[in-house]
Amino acid sequence: MTVSPSPSSGPFPSQLLAQVRDLVGESGVITEAEALAPFLAEQRGSYRGQAQICVLPATTQQLSAVMRLLYAAGIAMVPQGGNTGLCGGAVTNSPHEVILGTKRLRQVRAIDPENFTITVEAGCLLVEVQQAAQAVDRLFPLSLAAEGSCHIGGNLATNAGGTQVLRYGNARELVLGLEVVLPDGRVLTSLRGLRKDNTGYDLRQLFCGSEGTLGVITAAVLKLFPAPKAKVTALLALANLRAATEILALARSQTGDAVTGCELISRQALSMVLSHIPGTRDPLAQAHPWYLLLEATATEPSQPGERPGGVLTQRLEALLDEASDRGLILDAILAQHAGQSAELWRLRESIPEAQKPEGASLKHDISVPLSRVAELIERATALVQAAVPGVRVCAFGHIGDGNIHFNLSQPVGASKASFLAEREHLARLVHDLALSMNGSFSAEHGIGQLKREELVRYRSPVELELMRAIKHALDPKGLMNPGKVL
Ligand code: FAD
Repeated sequence: MTVSPSPSSGPFPSQLLAQVRDLVGESGVITEAEALAPFLAEQRGSYRGQAQICVLPATTQQLSAVMRLLYAAGIAMVPQGGNTGLCGGAVTNSPHEVILGTKRLRQVRAIDPENFTITVEAGCLLVEVQQAAQAVDRLFPLSLAAEGSCHIGGNLATNAGGTQVLRYGNARELVLGLEVVLPDGRVLTSLRGLRKDNTGYDLRQLFCGSEGTLGVITAAVLKLFPAPKAKVTALLALANLRAATEILALARSQTGDAVTGCELISRQALSMVLSHIPGTRDPLAQAHPWYLLLEATATEPSQPGERPGGVLTQRLEALLDEASDRGLILDAILAQHAGQSAELWRLRESIPEAQKPEGASLKHDISVPLSRVAELIERATALVQAAVPGVRVCAFGHIGDGNIHFNLSQPVGASKASFLAEREHLARLVHDLALSMNGSFSAEHGIGQLKREELVRYRSPVELELMRAIKHALDPKGLMNPGKVL
């Protein structure tokens, strides 16, 4: 097939478009403005895509043929899953970039309960993968608030974290094999589902967290786990911030390491939820500065006559008693049924939404070793409050992984613009501090186009050199998701 090189401006080459249509069919190409709009939007409204074309292949072979064609024509390609990413990674930056959407790659190809694996295509929603596992009495543990709309391919490409990393790891730790279409259309396959395969470089891990800059993930073999039969959720009012990690350590040792979730919620964050999210209520009688949402699961079912949660509930109650005796908590509530557990989780999951009506916000997705999280929050709070008097620190998140969403809401009554003008200054204070404590400036949301400068600032020259060498080896023409990550 011959193609003419793409022009740098003007309409997309019509001959090339016709060839793409031949490969994927009429329903696999979107060009009308209205239908394209959702593919150009971005979660936080910080970016606006510009593409004229979105291609939605239905098979890996179709995608491979399309990419071969675009690569030969020198056309840049931007993979897109559920478009829930928070760093602008799936947003096109030029009308001549083509969006490669995965929503039609949606088959569960195989499920092997005995091997504890599932093989899925990239466009499966995360929730669909969880449900397919559940149907054979298994657990796929990746879980995040966007699970009803993000795709598993996007989760792997961003190495998503979520609420169960503490027990099961980030997305990259859940992958046994991948199928990837390389920028030039070649297909790399390792869909073998092996737990042991010590044969050279681990290529699949290159693509996890690569944010679409090295190729398009089309399918994956994922690890499954025994399905939990008991789940206990508790909200604890902390005596102080430093108690959080002490309680987590206690909980891990006293429940047989059954803790799956450990989320920090500040009073500031909870107050915003209670003010703006309909149907929420304060779960404890009094207000406290810090809360810990703890969840533990067990694979043993309750015995006949036992309370729901059985031994696990007893262990968690014993933990709460001990934490209270040691002066680590001031109050606590143990969810009595699934509905109450969901209510507690809703308080946590609604925080980003509840921040919106409070005006402008600046977000920092930082991490440090667990033992230093309290110190990080305290020192970062002092720094930002000195820099912008009245700034409201809305800190929350995956404290069990050392990861805090250190979100800042504008001072009450301040102008949005003057607060947003502090973006660079505040980011520098918070990120420098995290890095000085052996931490990260982007714990789980990746780099995309939002944090490219931070990557250059904070990763070492050797790390950057190796990343660029890998990028060049796989994508010598620089056509895969240009302007992202590197
Ligand atoms: P997209 O947004 O479509 O793409 C993200 C990046 O991956 C882009 O660079 C894109 O080019 C690339 N990409 C997408 N699909 C592929 C593919 N098949 N092959 C190669 N590259 C690809 N993230 C967390 O880590 N933890 C959380 O707890 C969390 N909570 C969230 C809660 C909400 C309410 C929202 C809106 C987002 C949250 N996120 C969280 C961020 C986001 O959901 C994750 O980054 C998710 O993994 C992105 O998946 P997606 O399919 O939407 O990817």
